[in-house]
Amino acid sequence: MDIPNIKHEVTETDLSHLRFDNGFVRELPADPLVTNIPRAVRNACYTRVDPTPVRAPRILAWSDAVGATLGLRTAESWTGEAAEVLGGNRVLQGMQPYAARYGGHQFGNWAGQLGDGRAITLTEVIGVDGARHDLQLKGPGKTPYSRTADGRAVLRSSVREFMCSEAMHYLGVATTRALSLVATGDIVVRDMFYDGNPEPEPGAIVCRVAPSFVRFGNFEILAAHKEFDELRRLADYVITQHFPQLGAPSPTTYAQWFEEICRRTATMVADWMRVGFVHGVMNTDNMSILGLTMDYGPYGWLEGYDPQWTPNTTDAEGRRYCYGNQPHIAQWNLLRLANALYPLINDKSPLEHGLAVFSDAFNTATGRIMADKLGLRELDQPGDDRLIAELLEILQAVETDMTLFYRNLAATPVDAENDNALIAPLRRAFYSEDALAPAHTNKVAAWLRSYAARVRHDALPPSGRIARMNRVNPKYVLRNYLAQLAIDGLVQDDASMMKRLMHVLQRPYDEQPEHDDLAERRPEWARNRPGCSALSCSS
Ligand code: AMP
Ligand code: MG
Repeated sequence: MDIPNIKHEVTETDLSHLRFDNGFVRELPADPLVTNIPRAVRNACYTRVDPTPVRAPRILAWSDAVGATLGLRTAESWTGEAAEVLGGNRVLQGMQPYAARYGGHQFGNWAGQLGDGRAITLTEVIGVDGARHDLQLKGPGKTPYSRTADGRAVLRSSVREFMCSEAMHYLGVATTRALSLVATGDIVVRDMFYDGNPEPEPGAIVCRVAPSFVRFGNFEILAAHKEFDELRRLADYVITQHFPQLGAPSPTTYAQWFEEICRRTATMVADWMRVGFVHGVMNTDNMSILGLTMDYGPYGWLEGYDPQWTPNTTDAEGRRYCYGNQPHIAQWNLLRLANALYPLINDKSPLEHGLAVFSDAFNTATGRIMADKLGLRELDQPGDDRLIAELLEILQAVETDMTLFYRNLAATPVDAENDNALIAPLRRAFYSEDALAPAHTNKVAAWLRSYAARVRHDALPPSGRIARMNRVNPKYVLRNYLAQLAIDGLVQDDASMMKRLMHVLQRPYDEQPEHDDLAERRPEWARNRPGCSALSCSS
């Protein structure tokens, strides 16, 4: 069935007024069994399964912008129909909920079948923009893919996904979004530190929204089991639905499609690097086929600039998913996807070409980003590579806040003769007093002198240059400790910090001086506090 691309307006809070369409369920092979017990599923892309009801669903947070795209007014009732549907207690007529089947490479190893163990897509909604949006609940109970786990999510990780996916959107990073955060009224037990001390925690469900939640792993599982017919059907569906510009599926189209996935993934990761985001679990089952940031788990934001930093305690040993390794891992994951798609193309060279496109696209994007971050016209002068290498060296030499450094670089008076004046706007970026001793400030000042000379060489009008820098160097990011403060508040039934953050993070590049306190260095109390510095996968 073709959905005509007509715009419609719905301004109800009532979800039953939305236009549902279930393309994924209609077009793709279903698991013939509907028994909801953990099992290996074969020759299918999904299993039909309904959410398991919760005790007392209550909406804690709502994204007005996402709601408006779907055609929903801001939920006024925190316990009415919207809470019932988005908490998984009611399936509306026209919805056909399902859990997707996928596998994945986790920490470098093939892990076999994973699947939506605690995610259920309720339906696809044709939004007021005419586009297709999947509504997916995270934490709605067990599915055939739950293995030994409970299919639930705790409040702390749900708040983190809700807030960060919206914040990333406003930073201009490709991402899935979030419509609602629902407290379930149920208790979920988690061993947060994996130290044998499970604790009861409040449960929650996020309704996340994206054109599609298909991952690299959805293709990998089909290829791994040599289910080539299903593999082709999934590829054709994704191309027809989400990459229509590529035309009718064929081996040539598959190759162009892979290239496009490589390009989008490169752009996404270049943006992560730009804003200091560390995903934390770049397994292939967490990589979106649309190049969207997805599956927000133990992610984190760089405070001190450190390419080795990983927020994920499970990754502390190998640092596979640390900040600096993200581009490499993205390409490694794309190679896994290439292997999965090979049976459709039967030719290595276009896939190798796609991987080369990833490198080119990443390098081009990064060059543009660095030029913008530094307020330079282009990185086309002989000393530019050295200027950047020296910058990254001084950022690592002592603990230096990445966000504050780049943001405040725009305030450096490039015409100043005096080192103190050059360095003054950057002092707030240093974490320790030692950094302010001459041993280090002399190095920073020396770099700033070269930088200032380079800026003067470009001779761009200062106001335009500074505005451009401020469009790529955010003032406000979801610092790890800020997310934790929002969680601490909600646990006490106080949503004020979350609301304030959600409001400020909608304009991360604007000064908003009344919120300066949210753009400060991480306070010392948060340096080693759980949730503020290191996070586990327990969620
Ligand atoms: P993640 O590390 O959260 O990306 O999850 C990896 C796999 O484990 C996916 O198949 C998830 O659906 C599944 N999973 C994670 N947590 C749970 C849970 N509490 N219940 C059931 N499945 C889960
Ligand atoms: Mg995942």
